Amino acid sequence: MANTSVIQSTALSRRTIVTRSVAGAAGVAVLFGLITEAAAKMSQKSVDYQDTPKNDQDCSNCSLFQEPNSCTIVDGEISPKGWCKFWAKKPG
Ligand code: SF4
Repeated sequence: MANTSVIQSTALSRRTIVTRSVAGAAGVAVLFGLITEAAAKMSQKSVDYQDTPKNDQDCSNCSLFQEPNSCTIVDGEISPKGWCKFWAKKPG
């Protein structure tokens, strides 16, 4: 009888640990996602963004541009005719 009690107690402890671990991991994942998203984009000022092209380079032919008016790495509204120092030629 005492052994059964110990086994049930151990099982409950494992269940509790697993449940708390999963909940903790999910919380960490959500927090990490928020931090990553907040930190992922740079300010327009920090990348020397301008709303005019530089020679034949502009956001519409940059691989980081996202239609219709955003950028993978730069925060805020991005003009297709803009440019910044991280311009990277769109393949093709
Ligand atoms: S040039 Fe490229 S990296 Fe820079 S803001 Fe435009 S789309 Fe983003």
